[in-house]
Amino acid sequence: MSAPTIHRLDEATVARIAAGEVITRPARVVAELLDNALDAGAGRIDVTVDGDGTERIRVADDGCGLSQADAERAIERHATSKLPTGTDTDLTGVSTLGFRGEALAAIADCATLELVTNNGEAVGTELRVEDGDLSVRNAGRPQGTTVTVTDLFADRPARRESLAGQAAEFGRISELVARYALARPEVRFSLTHNGNETLSTSGGGFQDALLGVYNAETASRATTIEHATTVDGDGRLSVRGICCYPSVTRSTRDHVRVSVNGRPVTDSGLRRAVVAGYGSLIAGTRYPVAAIDIAPPARTVDPNIHPAKQEVGLTAREEIEESVETAVSKALTTADIRRTEDAAT
Ligand code: ADP
Ligand code: MG
Repeated sequence: MSAPTIHRLDEATVARIAAGEVITRPARVVAELLDNALDAGAGRIDVTVDGDGTERIRVADDGCGLSQADAERAIERHATSKLPTGTDTDLTGVSTLGFRGEALAAIADCATLELVTNNGEAVGTELRVEDGDLSVRNAGRPQGTTVTVTDLFADRPARRESLAGQAAEFGRISELVARYALARPEVRFSLTHNGNETLSTSGGGFQDALLGVYNAETASRATTIEHATTVDGDGRLSVRGICCYPSVTRSTRDHVRVSVNGRPVTDSGLRRAVVAGYGSLIAGTRYPVAAIDIAPPARTVDPNIHPAKQEVGLTAREEIEESVETAVSKALTTADIRRTEDAAT
């Protein structure tokens, strides 16, 4: 066989491959749009999903919005407002959820994208990208942004085939919104599926987020976590969150949710540390219900180690995990668990 020749891919193909890496399923669209809404400083975020999410996903926020010129730039690949201009930017300690500038472009590449936005001016902007064609016009809207994604993967039958069905795909979206709601308890979230509201929080803190994600019973059997310490020399670490009493258990670790600087992460070390904080209060075959958010020193956090940004790199990890364990066990010791539980029954 003769040696193959190597050539550079054309741009459209590169874009298509990259989009496939970012947007693998409907829940990824929701995650990227939630990141954007939170980065825009939203106090309220409403998520609407039809079917398995390929039919329609809509995320509406009351954040800063975009000017018409910025809205047009926002959908270009590698266009972001979140990193300084310049070369070789250091990503350590980046505090926004987004920074790669590729989500909107990737979504527009595999779906029809409509973005209606207003940054506080008299008239807003409506932008639509369908089959690569962009249309822009003026639109009325209060300050904020609504992104509607329809016909996801319409021209990618294999991707569509690989999806797990409506219940499973919506299940992923629902879990995702729950994780964001618990990571950002000061923001109001709602989730509506096929016209029925399935989750809503009122932005009143961890107890309230727990109430919105679970129910009044679960929220009443929980105590908040508030812990500050130093790690990595003189660096400040704060651990905030909520943990249910040991009488509230589940058969999997899925109800232990962790976030770093308000970014939900699937970090098994941190989750283990939360469980460890319960010590022997919970039998080894059961798991607690808890949510914690940690704010480590900026220099110890690298947000850029995972394609979907679901993991972050942490230096001083051991110290941080120890502090999480201490924070949880301290909260449980301080809470008068027995008395509160008696009162709840
Ligand atoms: P990134 O979030 O990595 O910057 P995106 O493609 O997700 O990349 O978004 C591109 C840009 O569009 C963002 O940097 C931001 O300036 C703007 N943007 C996107 N969504 C919103 C929103 N909901 N509200 C305000 N600005 C937004
Ligand atoms: Mg983004």
